[in-house]
Amino acid sequence: MIDWSRVRTVFLDMDGTLLDLHFDNHFWLHHVPQRYAQHHGVEEEDARRDILERYQHRSGTLEWYSVDFWASELGLDIACLKEEVAHLIAVHPHVPEFLDAVRAAGKRVVLVTNAHHKSLTLKMSRTRLDVHFDALITSHELGLPKEQPAFWQALQAVEPYAVEHTLLVDDSLAVLRSARDYGIAHLVAVHQPDTRQPRKDVDEFQAIDTFLDLMPGGIS
Ligand SMILES: [Mg+2]
Repeated sequence: MIDWSRVRTVFLDMDGTLLDLHFDNHFWLHHVPQRYAQHHGVEEEDARRDILERYQHRSGTLEWYSVDFWASELGLDIACLKEEVAHLIAVHPHVPEFLDAVRAAGKRVVLVTNAHHKSLTLKMSRTRLDVHFDALITSHELGLPKEQPAFWQALQAVEPYAVEHTLLVDDSLAVLRSARDYGIAHLVAVHQPDTRQPRKDVDEFQAIDTFLDLMPGGIS
């Protein structure tokens, strides 16, 4: 799928790519509306409708990914609510082996996420994946979400890379498109970000079922 001899840097998304998106979907679509309804004394269905509308309004922005933004918008301690369902945080199959194999092959391995630093901290403390990376970068540090091509230029200032020698694996088509617009040469999507949802076809990009699909014989 990938000519590894051409790759020097590997950028990996976190939620839905390395980790099962079930946690995030459950958290935002069920847990938050439930707790919001309890906290504000409204019907859960009404709370869900109201909250989904607010999500849509912020989709693709840094605010959508910000724990602090939603805490003040909804009047809930979002970080604390995440702890309540943290047992649902799960690593997709073959992720640690893949990260170690790529690093052993001399590639630079960098987590590049839109997740807020509080979410990143919770997920790394739960999964211990952080030890497999050369660097962890959140888009909040750069002030732009990955959906904007300008993000990939801004990333050069903290993590210099050559677009023709860089691979990005991300479950968001919007993010893959923005990376393609900037010129990143090797792009891979994910067929099943959330293991509780059906597998999705992806026409626009190459896509993996698991990281075994990307593990080249030469470096495994
Ligand atoms: Mg993702």
